[in-house]
Amino acid sequence: MKKSAEELLEIDRKYFMHPSTHAHDHETGALPGRLVTGAQGIRIQDHRGETFIDGFAGLYCVNIGYGRIEVAEAMYEQAKRLAYYHTYVGHSTDVVAELSARIIDWAPEGMKKVYYGLSGSDANETQIKIVWYYNNILGRKHKKKIISRVGGYHGSSIASGSLTGLTSFHRHFDLPLERMKHTVRPHWYRNAPDGMDEAAFSRYCAEQLEALILAEGSETIAAFIGEPVLGTGGIVPPPAGYWQAIQDVLAKYDILLIADEVVCGFGRLGTPMGSQKYGIRPDLITIAKGLTSAYAPLSGVIVGEKVWDVIVSGSRKDGAMGHGWTYSGHPVSAAAALANLGILETENITARAADVGAYLQASLKAAFADHPLVGEVRGVGMLAALEFMADPAARVPFDKSQQVGPRIAAACMQRHLIARAMPDYDVLGFAPPLVTTREDVDEIVRIARDAVDAVAAEIS
Ligand code: PLP
Repeated sequence: MKKSAEELLEIDRKYFMHPSTHAHDHETGALPGRLVTGAQGIRIQDHRGETFIDGFAGLYCVNIGYGRIEVAEAMYEQAKRLAYYHTYVGHSTDVVAELSARIIDWAPEGMKKVYYGLSGSDANETQIKIVWYYNNILGRKHKKKIISRVGGYHGSSIASGSLTGLTSFHRHFDLPLERMKHTVRPHWYRNAPDGMDEAAFSRYCAEQLEALILAEGSETIAAFIGEPVLGTGGIVPPPAGYWQAIQDVLAKYDILLIADEVVCGFGRLGTPMGSQKYGIRPDLITIAKGLTSAYAPLSGVIVGEKVWDVIVSGSRKDGAMGHGWTYSGHPVSAAAALANLGILETENITARAADVGAYLQASLKAAFADHPLVGEVRGVGMLAALEFMADPAARVPFDKSQQVGPRIAAACMQRHLIARAMPDYDVLGFAPPLVTTREDVDEIVRIARDAVDAVAAEIS
């Protein structure tokens, strides 16, 4: 007999260890849990039959929106024809070969090859191994440290979690690893010294990076990794001139640049990737999420020419690189990616994201710029955030115990809008599917305003 939703939730509480979930509260039912039963477009349904606007596209990954039959059919056809073959020792499938060329078309200039994984975290593990391999082949055995930013998010595995610059991902795990270092969070509103303008703050960030490189010894620094727009650390677009200033420092000390495009890639900023938006010229790129719009797990590392040449010389010297996974280049995921990219391209979704994204930013500014709880309204394309402050002008945050961000996210949820309480500070994040319309934006902003007003009334 078919189990009821309540029975299923009970089984879930009993047997399923959820990611990023309060273990005690979930097991006891204090955190009630939710069964998601279906989704279409930008809306999901739960076990009570309620519908929610998904203002965060899952975990900012469902770029084309839910329920696109073409993707499901492409996966079905692929699974029927060839559900699996490995890609070791030069084996391939038609879909993986074709997908690799398509991804290079989306990437900024100078990119050469694609390596596949299944998650952003494992793709960044591959990045770290490639960077270490690169320097070992070049005979630079001390050039191994990797710099990321405080507030950066690059995954939650051992090494990618070390690159992540959020303490909650380090605490009780003995992380970060010794070779991973963190430089300043490029958030002008929150971190700039009083009176410093944006351009000066970008120069300050570059100076801080250079000081860290020199303190560690430039001969020990192998790479710098950054998201074009800081994501989980608060959805923070870079201050003016930031990426140019950072790249100048990296070039001076022969340090590789890894662009983590897991969130920004595949149209989210209204450009193919975030790199094109900000003039970033990476040596390596990490992709995941929007590559398949999360219809199937797939991630990748895009390798630029400079690094690829060293990988080739490494193989001539020492044979095949000892790195690979059973599911690297899985054909069903590749079929999903091809169908997803087809939809993004034929429906001009990147251009639509630029247009509706500009409208989203303007609408949030109009609704919240003068709100007494809001310190900053920020974003770019289809990524946006509201940061709440006890005293916005003096940049005084709320006491953590007040849980202002999570309360506002809960108030949105009560009103059938999913927006994400970001893990650091009181920040409400928006990253809706790229097919969100202007009318949807109006609804998102109206509900968010109502929710913020409700929590503001409680606080005062
Ligand atoms: N890199 C960035 C920029 C991310 O935002 C994320 C996840 O949100 C990751 C890497 C890790 O991806 P995954 O959760 O698929 O391991």
